Amino acid sequence: MPALVRPAMKVIKSPKAGKKTKRFKCSGCRATLEVGGKDLKFQADPRDGNAYSFTCPECKQDTWIAADLIPQAMRPAARG
Ligand SMILES: [Zn+2]
Repeated sequence: MPALVRPAMKVIKSPKAGKKTKRFKCSGCRATLEVGGKDLKFQADPRDGNAYSFTCPECKQDTWIAADLIPQAMRPAARG
């Protein structure tokens, strides 16, 4: 068996990586917000499935989004 060769190449940019932000509407004041991965808080919900929430900078209300609607590339790593 030959030893596994680790690829030395590094991906700088790939369309597969996708966008790191997505626009969502605040459920409180209806503001359109450009939400990034840093803005999302992971919310584990055993009944309805996992979700993420973000806090609107305008009205400070939390908006919950089903995890399925968050592109993989912008999801913050789930801990635990
Ligand atoms: Zn708002």
